[in-house]
Amino acid sequence: RDERIKKTKTVCTYCGVGCSFDVWTKDRKILKVEPQAEAPANGISTCVKGKFGWDFVNSEDRLTKPLIREGDTFREAEWEEALNLVERKFTEIKSEYGPDSLAFITSSKCTNEESYLMQKLARGVIGTNNVDNCSRYCQSPATVGLFRTVGYGGDSGTIKDIEKAGLVLIVGSNTSESHPVLSTRVKRSHKLRGQKLIVADIRKHEMAERADLFVHPKAGSDMVWLSAVTKYIIDKGWTDHDFIQQRVNGFEKYKKSLEPFTLEYAEEATGITRENLIKIAEAIHEAEGTCVLWAMGVTQHIGGSDTSTAISNLLLVTGNYCKPGAGSYPLRGHNNVQGASDFGSMPDRLPGYERIADEKVRAKYEKGWGVKIPEKPGMNNHEMIEGIHAGVLKAMYVKGEEMGLVDSNINHVHAAYEKLDFFVVQDIFFSATAQYADVVLPASPSFEKEGTFTNTERRIQRLYQVFDPLGESKPDWQIIMEVANRLGAGWNYGHPSEIMEEAASLSPIYAGVRYDRLEGYNTLQWPVNADGTDQPLLFADGTFPLPDGKAILYPVQWSKPIDFGDEYDIHVNNGRLLEHFHEGNLTYRSKGISMKTPEIWLEVSPELAEERGIKDGTLVRLTSPYGNVKVKTLVTDRVQGNEVYLPMNDSGEAAVNLLTSSFSDKDTDTPAYKETMAKMEIL
Ligand code: SF4
Repeated sequence: RDERIKKTKTVCTYCGVGCSFDVWTKDRKILKVEPQAEAPANGISTCVKGKFGWDFVNSEDRLTKPLIREGDTFREAEWEEALNLVERKFTEIKSEYGPDSLAFITSSKCTNEESYLMQKLARGVIGTNNVDNCSRYCQSPATVGLFRTVGYGGDSGTIKDIEKAGLVLIVGSNTSESHPVLSTRVKRSHKLRGQKLIVADIRKHEMAERADLFVHPKAGSDMVWLSAVTKYIIDKGWTDHDFIQQRVNGFEKYKKSLEPFTLEYAEEATGITRENLIKIAEAIHEAEGTCVLWAMGVTQHIGGSDTSTAISNLLLVTGNYCKPGAGSYPLRGHNNVQGASDFGSMPDRLPGYERIADEKVRAKYEKGWGVKIPEKPGMNNHEMIEGIHAGVLKAMYVKGEEMGLVDSNINHVHAAYEKLDFFVVQDIFFSATAQYADVVLPASPSFEKEGTFTNTERRIQRLYQVFDPLGESKPDWQIIMEVANRLGAGWNYGHPSEIMEEAASLSPIYAGVRYDRLEGYNTLQWPVNADGTDQPLLFADGTFPLPDGKAILYPVQWSKPIDFGDEYDIHVNNGRLLEHFHEGNLTYRSKGISMKTPEIWLEVSPELAEERGIKDGTLVRLTSPYGNVKVKTLVTDRVQGNEVYLPMNDSGEAAVNLLTSSFSDKDTDTPAYKETMAKMEIL
């Protein structure tokens, strides 16, 4: 065999399903991707992105040297010069305005170890809790809903456990395009094992078409129908009485809070018929276990945390926790959005979700790191943008996050970037965000480094280095360490395993996570005990990580969708396409994908098309109070009435966040991307 041909185990860097596979290479050429039958998340397949989405690694557009701004342009620089500049500016800004004038964003495409180091840099070296990651843009509301009710924010069980459910209820998730391999498991159990499937969504995507029952609630009304179904179940006496008695607090108060949510009220508020509401309640009652899968259709609203809470409440009253084939599955978007939060890149939590406000927790980290940690929670990424506009935040360090395209209301975000005194962007490409930077540091993608990722089911997996870093690019963990050391940190990590060792020594939920336990295709699902035993199924012993071991039924109220006024009469739903990932920085640079889907389109309903004289390919402009996009249309009955669907996969004239607002979930500041209204004109 040609000795230059080698096989390396890695983990997909697209969605949160976290498929593992071997990648076959010859020199820097990628020959094939080969999923292994025993791979934990995916079995024997990948989706199109996992299979063909890797050309970007060798793209000519890769950054291979640091860049320094000179006026309106950039020039290449040596690492020494670029890092000297970062050191000098961070030091000056900290000394003039204090540590809270700096902010740090980690990437949910980077490894756990890199996210750990980014928050350690912010807290332990700079002295600020201004650190966040992109879970703020997606699943933070789900985490809050689960923290409130069951104590852990992760998926209740494994992806395979979903197959054991009698009923899968999918709410606001385009699962077959956003989490393709996971959806394959659901499709298989639905078709072959008689598993019931109910889908609630405003768009008739593939899972909706396959469902036994598909309901189309009015946009932003999920909390209402979920509460009405729960009330109906309670009124019928279909609750799991023993489960509630032994394992749940707050039933009477919660029951009272449901009084307004009658079937009549829900029918009016959501548009779901009384008959269908009853059918959903009956299906849950009759099923041997219900799993609820949800995503951004639930969370990206002003009441996203409350709707997530309502889901968990429903599961609690019906006893759908503590067993396989039941529970909460908030599907994580990016490959490592779970890990970025797990490892402490949040303004109010240290690794393992321990609270920064807890003196004992801070004392533990202060002892471990040998530094003082600030007590005051920091700014989240939404507050950072407002902080820049307010003149409070002066410098930012954004690692691997295309914040300038994926944050909402990007005209407002870009205006903020222009006000920064100093902006460092670390990425593999000269991204839209990098255009506003003062220094751009060239990083290496997953194929060029070692580390671990944590997927949606809390599964920690190792990735191995396939190629050497391209040009002078470096793994993010090395760059962060160099920045930290210039600021006096004295870190000396020789390998990511040493970073993990440190994180595991400080955070109870990773106590037993070690690289030798993660060799090859071995995995661990947190929480992991010191002896290496893990918990694929959360709450398996019937207790919850809450004060008396019991879950909590948490009353919530409905936040009605934002009223943008009659002028804006088109509801702009938005989300993923199967082939592309977010702004498309990776997938448009992967030939096998960009050839198949070179551009996006706006889905318009047949009735709206007829009313406005729109055909396939008509160029339209959508204008919201915040900006406008130009895009061609596709007429399809996947959408209804004045609801259109704009994929998020464009970085130019059709970039969806030119339209979205700065409104956000009231509990987490997750942008209310799904509450976007616009007016439409034909061009
Ligand atoms: Fe990658 Fe997700 Fe596709 Fe798996 S399902 S190959 S993790 S994008």
